Amino acid sequence: MADGTETESRKLLGRLREEMASEAAGQERLDRITHLIADSIRAEVCSVYLFRDEDTLELCATEGLTPEAVHKTRMRMGEGLVGRVAKSGKVVNTADAPSAKGFRYMPETGEERFSSFLGVPVQRLGQKLGVLVVQSREAREFSADEVYALEVVAMVLAEMAELGAFIGEGAALSPLHQQSILLRGGPAQEGSAEGHVWLHEPRVVVTNPIADDPQREQERLAEAVEELRVGVDKMLEISKGGDSEQLQVLEAYRMFANSKGWMRRMEEDITLGLSAEAAVEKEQSQARARMSQVTDPYLRERLADLDDLSNRLLRILTGQGNTNSADLPPDPILIARNIGPGDLLEYGRSLKGIVLEEGSVGSHATIVARALAIPLVVHVGRITTEALNGDHVLVDGDHGVVHLRPEDTVVSAFRDKIAMQAKAQERYASIRDTPTVTRDGERINLVMNAGLMADLPSLHNSGAEGVGLFRTELQFLIRNQMPKRSELVTQYQRVLDAAGDMRVVFRTLDIGSDKVLPYMKHVAEPNPALGWRAIRVGLDKRGVMRMQLQALMRAANGRPLTLMFPFVAQAEEFREARWEVNKTIEREKRLGHVLPESLEVGAMLETPSLAFAPQKFFDEVDFISIGGNDLKQFFFAADRENELVRRRYDTLNVSFLTFMERIVERCNASNTPLSFCGEDAGRPVEALCLAAMGIRSLSMRPASIGPVKSVLLRADLQALRKIIADARHRGEQSVRPAVMEWLRSQG
Ligand code: PEP
Ligand code: MG
Repeated sequence: MADGTETESRKLLGRLREEMASEAAGQERLDRITHLIADSIRAEVCSVYLFRDEDTLELCATEGLTPEAVHKTRMRMGEGLVGRVAKSGKVVNTADAPSAKGFRYMPETGEERFSSFLGVPVQRLGQKLGVLVVQSREAREFSADEVYALEVVAMVLAEMAELGAFIGEGAALSPLHQQSILLRGGPAQEGSAEGHVWLHEPRVVVTNPIADDPQREQERLAEAVEELRVGVDKMLEISKGGDSEQLQVLEAYRMFANSKGWMRRMEEDITLGLSAEAAVEKEQSQARARMSQVTDPYLRERLADLDDLSNRLLRILTGQGNTNSADLPPDPILIARNIGPGDLLEYGRSLKGIVLEEGSVGSHATIVARALAIPLVVHVGRITTEALNGDHVLVDGDHGVVHLRPEDTVVSAFRDKIAMQAKAQERYASIRDTPTVTRDGERINLVMNAGLMADLPSLHNSGAEGVGLFRTELQFLIRNQMPKRSELVTQYQRVLDAAGDMRVVFRTLDIGSDKVLPYMKHVAEPNPALGWRAIRVGLDKRGVMRMQLQALMRAANGRPLTLMFPFVAQAEEFREARWEVNKTIEREKRLGHVLPESLEVGAMLETPSLAFAPQKFFDEVDFISIGGNDLKQFFFAADRENELVRRRYDTLNVSFLTFMERIVERCNASNTPLSFCGEDAGRPVEALCLAAMGIRSLSMRPASIGPVKSVLLRADLQALRKIIADARHRGEQSVRPAVMEWLRSQG
């Protein structure tokens, strides 16, 4: 293919297409393809190495090397020149292979006769499939045109593999997307689910990678890109004046959509014989390969933008992917790279489970998944490339494990586990109306955390005695614009109506840190968790705070109202906020609105400083709620969002429990009611220890009320206190081992 690369390459692709259409299956087809490529490139050798497993490449077909080496010669990722191509995802082109870095001599192949080596990765949308190699005796570097042509051929091979061209009788490759695989990620919402894959953004399948009329393909590409540009311009028009970050993304889209380089590369791919969609996908695959190597977050984001844009272009070209939720399979398990809270809410409770390739434990989507009690696993690498719509899948949200296309034995073990959990739920249902009194007579108040209208039915199903934390920010986070006061009044009314006589603690807007309102000016901060958030924003943006306070009072409309301010670090902040509450009452009175029958105003203790506030604060505040999630991260200086450290320090660490004890003592001394509303309140062992430390009100996810109540009913808190005190005396770092041992001895 040294001269006339274009026509030669097109001819080769034409022959490959004939191969694809031929009757031959698996091995035979691959053998013929290596022969075709070697012949077309005028190289003595053409070999295809494919992955056997994640780390092993196998010579699957060759023209020119010893035939006996086929399916025998194997190398690991990174081993030899072939392994180097696979690992780096980059081309290796050398005139003198034996002297090249990493060369490994494989005697069984007879390759010592060949001096030059050109290897290109076979990859599809970030999924590494293998390596395509040509070698020749003559010591020469392959020209840039030849390298490019071979990359195009590798792309076609990848598409053929995806379409199943090398499986069947005499398979050269184990079929893609058919084996069962286990993928690990991070647990974000507990629970187990069995169901079928529903790809939030289905992958486009390119069924025609090779085209014979380049002129027509160029036109198709140009038309699709034009449609894309018009679409992006429209989106930009709609978003003008909106969130600057969203605008930035759209500007990046427009930049790529108008990029001459992007267009030129795709046009060149078409000239060599690819169809318009295959050309788009080739560029997309290369961008994904670059993405995996780029560490700069800004560049990564831009590459991700290009990836999104390519997906849009592919959908325009193929007309695929315009599915809607009416096509959901039975027991749908949503699989996506990421998903926004609004999209997730649209699916609502129809989903059985969620698996995200990215996502994070504290993201809004996670908050929504938790509120809906849908098992969720995040950070599951490869899931969007491995899963196909409709695949059978098991999600273990407790351990962060996903079984895709599981074996029968795994399915039956998993079903046993679900059945056991269902049995436990039945047990919890039977104690739903039993008051939580421990064996030694302590009455514990179990209330629930909520934030969405979807949570309300749980008030009655779970056995909660009220709402200990209503996260009002969720209503703000799931919208594209600031909600109106009248909308908030309606929502808060619905919450109070659903609660009836039960107490609901409304937490005022807690934004900042990881909770960014899409419509509020984003402030870049070096440490958002320690930054402008929660009550700090409220006190600086009084208009929003007043609007919310008014909405709460109007919703109460003569009923009792309880509210609390998040993230109070010093007494003065609470005082200022309370002053706003008093002002709001005066205003509402003047305006002739009915005032709440009674009003309690509390503070969330989420920073260690508040525990050491002057006594006057404890006397003034109506109640305190410990926000354990935040408090713990500041107490241990370990970011709750950072997987590397967030589980490093145990809640049952004696320092933390001693701290809890001090807070209890201070509250008791001033008769200030105290509750705990972090995630730990919903973990049975942690909840027991918090109760043993003297906390009498625990607020948790509704699903945790049953398990927590069940252990509390059987517990003797006095005895547990002694176990904790003894462990502390012995100088143990965490009381967990001692507590677990004690629980076991109790049966
Ligand atoms: C907490 O910090 O414990 C808490 C309940 O608030 P959030 O998790 O919403 O920050
Ligand atoms: Mg908090």
